[in-house]
Amino acid sequence: MPAEPPTDAPTTHPVAHDVVNPATEEVIATVRSTTPAEVDAAVRRATAAQRRWAALAPADRARLLRRFATAVDGAVEELAAIELREAGHPLAGARWEAGNVRDLLDYAAGGVERLTGYQIPVAGGLDVTFQEPLGVVAVIAPWNFPLPIAAWGSAPALAAGNAVLLKPAEATPLSALRLAELALAAGLPEDLFQVLPGAGPVTGEALVDHPGVAKVVFTGSTAVGKRIMARCAAGVKRLTLELGGKSPNIVFADADLERAAATAPGAFCDNAGQDCCARSRVLVERTVYDRFLALLEPAVLAVTVGDPADPATAMGPLISAAHRDRVRAHVPETTPAVVRGTVPTGPGYWYPPTVLEAHAAPARAAAEEIFGPVAVVAPFDDEADAVRQANATDYGLSGSVWTRDAARALRVVRAVAAGNLSVNSHSSVRHATPFGGFKHSGLGRELGPDALAAFTETKNVFIATEER
Ligand code: NAP
Repeated sequence: MPAEPPTDAPTTHPVAHDVVNPATEEVIATVRSTTPAEVDAAVRRATAAQRRWAALAPADRARLLRRFATAVDGAVEELAAIELREAGHPLAGARWEAGNVRDLLDYAAGGVERLTGYQIPVAGGLDVTFQEPLGVVAVIAPWNFPLPIAAWGSAPALAAGNAVLLKPAEATPLSALRLAELALAAGLPEDLFQVLPGAGPVTGEALVDHPGVAKVVFTGSTAVGKRIMARCAAGVKRLTLELGGKSPNIVFADADLERAAATAPGAFCDNAGQDCCARSRVLVERTVYDRFLALLEPAVLAVTVGDPADPATAMGPLISAAHRDRVRAHVPETTPAVVRGTVPTGPGYWYPPTVLEAHAAPARAAAEEIFGPVAVVAPFDDEADAVRQANATDYGLSGSVWTRDAARALRVVRAVAAGNLSVNSHSSVRHATPFGGFKHSGLGRELGPDALAAFTETKNVFIATEER
């Protein structure tokens, strides 16, 4: 029989990982990874905590979630500072993100006492439905918007009476860990909301495969989402998927071209393009194509790239050297561009805002999600051609339509196969409106009025009132 390995023998997976400030390349923390055995223990504790939580009066659960929201409100600056350091987000955006968590907790708290069922007219008795909590929910979050995306799954799941085990991305666990401390300080029961840092293929898969986890909420790449979906099939596990995008920004000749051009860079450079909703395909009606490009150039050059702590900064770094390599593999910085911005010298994972014309862009850049500050511009001939090009992708997350013709705007947003459309705006995310993708961009919806229902099972009960 082979000897047991010593307990301190090297394992195939690291027991801890460094968190690096992407603007300075400095290690700012080292975080211990959660082992599969610890995941198992966490699920057991969460299962017990969930039973106690679901048994509380709805008003009491709502009150505790509001206290959690108040605690987050008091920590907005602190949380924003963490996002700035671990994710490289400029301060204004990081503050919005922390505020989004607060708003979502408040909104979810308001849903606890409104999670009603139906009373359905039937013969011979009374028929009612109940929205039962699922049990333990695993939320697996990416690094691009660590705080909001952690809360999109966690807040409604808790509000609907579930326990939550949150696995943040390895690159950005610090804001999630602080969120768990705030929850405890606000009075949420111990073990109800646990944060389990660690690598996706180890900690994440242990969560996905655990029979005690009733639902997985995954936000991340389509490739990993497909893998998780297949693993969930084994346990017929409930699943929400928020995946990638390659979204169109459609500009018609009758639009306010100055505004459309001025706002286009923000729609693909916000968060350095590491945004699932980035409008990275700019489709412009051929008759105004040249004029639009002329207006776009100064707008792109005006995007200030630099130190996220500087209030003048509009765009920070990419998350890591490895991710910058991926962006460069799609678009080497030598690729001929319509316009290319500038970046700081010295440390930091910088990549300039870049606009390519479709006919001159590498094929991968035109078709695949780059997740960097790169847009590909192409002309279209008419409305039908615009819709055809907009839908010529496996993705379907978001998109924008710029026109002064309201009827056309409505025809086009109905024809584009995507979950989140905006007209004369690039807005995609509000805590009170539903969010999610068509096609390979996802499965299910988060946020909005139905957010809590996605964390319940509907139970139908018939009570006979007739004696025969
Ligand atoms: P990712 O590599 O798919 O990782 C996302 C999360 O899944 C991370 O926590 C990761 O952990 C974990 N993970 C990786 N492999 C796993 C596995 N085998 N089992 C379980 N968990 C696993 O994605 P990313 O690069 O962090 O994020 C970028 C992607 O997310 C883009 O495609 C973007 O479009 C998408 N996204 C979508 C939305 C939306 O709402 N639709 C929002 C934001 C981002 P590690 O960090 O340890 O790898």
